[in-house]
Amino acid sequence: MSNEKYEFFKVVQDHLTKAARLIDLDAPVELMLSQPKNEIIVHFPVRMDDGSVRLFKGYRIQHSNILGPFKGGIRYHEGVTLDDVKALAAMMTWKCALMRLPYGGAKGGIKFNPRNQSAGELQRITRRFTHALGSNIGPDYDIPAPDVGTTPQMMAWIMDMYMNTVGHVNKQASRGVVTGKPITSGGTLGREKATGQGVVHCITEWAREHRFNLEGSTYIVQGFGNVGSHASTLLARYGASLVAVGDHSGYLKSPEGFNPHKLSEWVRTHGSVAGYPSGQVITREEFFATRCDLFIPAALEGQIGVAEAKALECRVIAEGANGPTMPDGEKVLQERGITVIPDILANSGGVTVSYYEWVQNKRSESWDLEEVDARLETAMKRAYKEVSDFARSRDTDLRRAAYCVALERLQAAYRERDIFP
Ligand code: NAD
Repeated sequence: MSNEKYEFFKVVQDHLTKAARLIDLDAPVELMLSQPKNEIIVHFPVRMDDGSVRLFKGYRIQHSNILGPFKGGIRYHEGVTLDDVKALAAMMTWKCALMRLPYGGAKGGIKFNPRNQSAGELQRITRRFTHALGSNIGPDYDIPAPDVGTTPQMMAWIMDMYMNTVGHVNKQASRGVVTGKPITSGGTLGREKATGQGVVHCITEWAREHRFNLEGSTYIVQGFGNVGSHASTLLARYGASLVAVGDHSGYLKSPEGFNPHKLSEWVRTHGSVAGYPSGQVITREEFFATRCDLFIPAALEGQIGVAEAKALECRVIAEGANGPTMPDGEKVLQERGITVIPDILANSGGVTVSYYEWVQNKRSESWDLEEVDARLETAMKRAYKEVSDFARSRDTDLRRAAYCVALERLQAAYRERDIFP
């Protein structure tokens, strides 16, 4: 993480304010969207493998439900704070509005490092958190999904816990309480790769728009979890070469290019990129200074400060992660002519396919992969075009354009419904 202090929620609010100014957003709409609707904080005990009892702090922030049920991931990470979860929840509201999904925005998290816990402990933590949230989540009220540190397996535990406590009278109808589930527990084909796939759709649209040939191009990826690994393998299909990569364990380069499939396999079995045989170890500074065409941040927020923005030698950044670019870093990127495809557009493939999973659960259907892929492609391309057209017509950057497109939809709903009572 860069050394600059990163007030994530303030940064997201600032994006909101700037976009609101550009489209002359109604003042009450901006006011209502400036804070989450509900902030739920729970403390719950869990028995650990050594017999001790540990108390965990869990968050669920429900930002807006003007367009539909609250929707957003759950993060397990030692750095989780209320401020971050509030920021991430607000971003889910913009993302769902931008993608025209009938959802609002939410996010949850527990502050602990899941890598230090056994599978049994992870299950008990997940189940107790679900129990503590109780009817604050539900298939038509608030629908969690995976994020950093959480997996399809954990989503199955959340579903099972919810079904057997709150939703026990109608088990089938409560399947959609969570998305990102394993296929056999009601998940959808295409969800695991969906966020990375959406990032790649944005990159191919950008390339088409700028007549940039991806064949023979180079890219670097920070974070090689769900988003980073899938984006890497899918981008390689266009003939692009992954020349540097990094995660919580460190950074590697390979001037002749990594095989992203083999690297993903390594990370699955070893837990990180560390020790991968065909890479040379480099520092974080060297990683950011690696000459390349495309950079995909896919780890955490607050990674691209002034120093990183000055060091980067790429043409475009596709934000797989939420909030990776800090405002001061963004200014430098703008001065240097480096395009940023913003998070709320670039990584919205995940929530879009989560929506397809939820619809299938509601209808007791099971779509094939081709159908999911085709729908996602159409949705991503449409959103990219809307954002790009807005940016061009209003002479602004893609981030502000994405916020504006989302806010115009939210404003329309508020205008139609007005304020109760
Ligand atoms: P993940 O847990 O699968 O992977 C996270 C990756 O980040 C891992 O490779 C980890 O080693 C790396 N990382 C953690 N701390 C780091 C550090 N200090 N320096 C460098 N690397 C570090 O998580 P994910 O689901 O791939 O999420 C990654 C990002 O994408 C997050 O910002 C998340 O909010 C965002 N996102 C995820 C989804 C989704 O569907 N999973 C959807 C939209 C956005």
